[in-house]
Amino acid sequence: MAANGERVAIGIDLGTTYSCVAVWRNDQVEVIVNDQGNRTTPSYVSFTQNQRMIGDAALNNASTNPINSVFDAKRLIGRKFSDPMVQSDKKLWPFKVIADDNDKPIIVVNHNHKEKRFPAEAISSMVLEKMREISEAYLGSKVKDAVITVPAYFNESQRQATKDAGAIAGLNVMRIINEPSAAAIAYGVDMKACIRGRRNVFIFDLGGGTLDVSLLTFEMEDIQVKTIAGDTHLGGEDFDNRMVDYFVKEFQRKNKMDIRGDPRALRRLRFACEKAKRTLSCNTLATIELDFLYQGIDFYSSITRAKFEELNKDYFQKCMELVEKCVIDSKMDKSNIHDVVLVGGSSRIPKVRQLLMDFFGRKDLCNRINPDEAVAHGAAVHASILSGEFSEKVQSLLLREVTPLSLGLEKHGGIMETIIPRNTMIPTTMDHVFTTHFHNQTNILIHVYEGERQTTRHNNLLGKFVLEIPPYPRGVPQIKVCFQIDEEGILHVSVKEKSNRINMKVTIINDKGRLSRAEIERMVRENEKNKAEDERYKKKVEAKNALENYAYNMRNAINDEDISSKLSLEDKQKINDAIDLVLKWLGINDAAEQDDFERYSKDLSKAFDPIMLKMIKDLSPTDNDVTPSTVGNDKMKRWLQILAKHTLQAVYSTLTGDIIGFVCTVIGDILP
Ligand code: AMP
Repeated sequence: MAANGERVAIGIDLGTTYSCVAVWRNDQVEVIVNDQGNRTTPSYVSFTQNQRMIGDAALNNASTNPINSVFDAKRLIGRKFSDPMVQSDKKLWPFKVIADDNDKPIIVVNHNHKEKRFPAEAISSMVLEKMREISEAYLGSKVKDAVITVPAYFNESQRQATKDAGAIAGLNVMRIINEPSAAAIAYGVDMKACIRGRRNVFIFDLGGGTLDVSLLTFEMEDIQVKTIAGDTHLGGEDFDNRMVDYFVKEFQRKNKMDIRGDPRALRRLRFACEKAKRTLSCNTLATIELDFLYQGIDFYSSITRAKFEELNKDYFQKCMELVEKCVIDSKMDKSNIHDVVLVGGSSRIPKVRQLLMDFFGRKDLCNRINPDEAVAHGAAVHASILSGEFSEKVQSLLLREVTPLSLGLEKHGGIMETIIPRNTMIPTTMDHVFTTHFHNQTNILIHVYEGERQTTRHNNLLGKFVLEIPPYPRGVPQIKVCFQIDEEGILHVSVKEKSNRINMKVTIINDKGRLSRAEIERMVRENEKNKAEDERYKKKVEAKNALENYAYNMRNAINDEDISSKLSLEDKQKINDAIDLVLKWLGINDAAEQDDFERYSKDLSKAFDPIMLKMIKDLSPTDNDVTPSTVGNDKMKRWLQILAKHTLQAVYSTLTGDIIGFVCTVIGDILP
């Protein structure tokens, strides 16, 4: 355990809109609250001219600084810029996204008065780092090891990119596991005592950006994923977008103005829509009230649950198609499914629940586990198992996953030759032997694809490489391509000639836009730099606040009737001048550095201390404990404590009620 100096492994649910972190401690999962006391943290990063904010602060800043507040990195990670999904999302994001030379999407923001460019991995790494900091603050020790979850339908590049994000955040990513599988682990731990024999469980996970459905069987400690289906671009954000669109049109109809060109107005409307959507999960009507939304025009409107359902009808339908596909693929009759478990914030939508109940022909759905926390819960359990921590409750849990998409090679004529079919249990190794088409062929170009279509142009190209072989007659070389998928669903491809008689050389032509090792290392360094800058900014703000407090507290103190009556006019003037100087300087030097604020604090002390010293000496000429070593507010606090002490002595000797009043006022104002 952390307290004993042992390494603790955490589980992170890196969500599209919110992230959650948990740890297995004291024989149970603890979901870790963040610095705001919340159990989930917005997956937002916001950049200003002098600081970088992550989580709640970034979300709060997004309305006023929309173009530099980044979210939805999970919707970009591992995708190409030209991906139609990226193109359509891009239109709705207030921040700028461009393509690099490899068609990789790059987020552009303005930070510290400079244009900064980040790939999605870098933004996700900042969120992961925040989750790590949250757990370190909670556990009181450094955290390195983590299990991170991804949607089951994330493809190869998206998984790799998420792993890279973890590395940039300085985490040792022990494993990437699928979100519905993590939720299944949470369910398994929760239901352990009740599971007798074999139990078929359907996990429905609808979050902010993705839908994952999964059918699993639980038998003793064995959790086996049977089938999965999903969409990495279907979730709460899409429902929000529909509502935003609806209100944009209403505003246009009412005011003949289009707010789409104003990122701030759009951002405010989006917030209001997300809130309204949540309201519609428990009420049938939600209102939108936005003062001065656009060009000074207020916008007040409302939406019914029925209208919301109508706006998203096709999305809800799509959810059900995927549910059906998953059940059909499993070849299991839906009446044999014992539990339908709801995961993800969007699974609270009543229409979604109703469609699921109709489909499964049941009156109830499983609400035993918290839909916002189930995934982090399961990830924490998995992390503790991987780190070898012993607990009878979880130690023997065994999770067996399947591949979400078929993997294969391109055959002649652009046809997909599947090597590992989807829903194959992993880890797995399968191979395929092929030969040359032409006499004396010396180059073979191999394309690796994932997807379910017969023609490769409809599938996703993962990578390509060239085999160089010595010339042989057509059909002679027996080239074996081996596909190995590891426990994390990550593919490793190797090639050899069956007889080992022919020498081959493999040249990788592209690496799917993945970050190179050098780029990751560069980002790790940048991350460290960002962290140092954040720390510097924090210290500067603290120094500024301390100086401001010191000046105001000092003014309050000398304005107090009792102190004032003991000060000469000249001393009072001296202190007031020093305070005025500092406050004036503060008013025009917002961007000053920590040292400057501390220097001014010392200057204030110089004006204040001799006068206080004199006052205390007058009260008690024999006291030597009057040269406190602290500075600023702390010093002042100390002065006032001493003053209070002496004044109390004076109270005993003179018994004047006035002095008691003075001590109480000063101590009440100044001391915490
Ligand atoms: P997750 O990725 O699981 O954190 O889910 C986040 C998504 O769930 C966001 O799009 C939220 O707007 C949505 N959400 C959270 N609570 C509710 C609710 N009560 N009704 C509808 N959607 C919700």
